[in-house]
Amino acid sequence: MSNTILPKPHQCHCQFCQQGDVNPKQEWHQQVNLFMSRLDEQQRRWYAALEAKRVGHGGMRLISKITGLDVNTIRRGRRELAENLQGRPIGRVRVSGGGRKPLEKKSLNC
Ligand SMILES: [Zn+2]
Repeated sequence: MSNTILPKPHQCHCQFCQQGDVNPKQEWHQQVNLFMSRLDEQQRRWYAALEAKRVGHGGMRLISKITGLDVNTIRRGRRELAENLQGRPIGRVRVSGGGRKPLEKKSLNC
């Protein structure tokens, strides 16, 4: 058991999720939002862009509706993916002062 407070996933407001009864679309929307709640800002953008692309026509509007992300944000994610994520930081977006120390190799003499 962990006491960590988890980020609350975004609640989709589309017609399927509002209906209340479980359907495949609702499950997908919930899992998209659940997954997104564990990503950082730029990863969220890229995932939204990927899902939007997978949906195809009208995908960006749909993903925007499901995730609450702005269409422009998703569009930006798509552009960044198209540019092979050049210039995007690896790992957390947050700029930290203290970098991780390199691991010291343990010498095994036996
Ligand atoms: Zn929904």
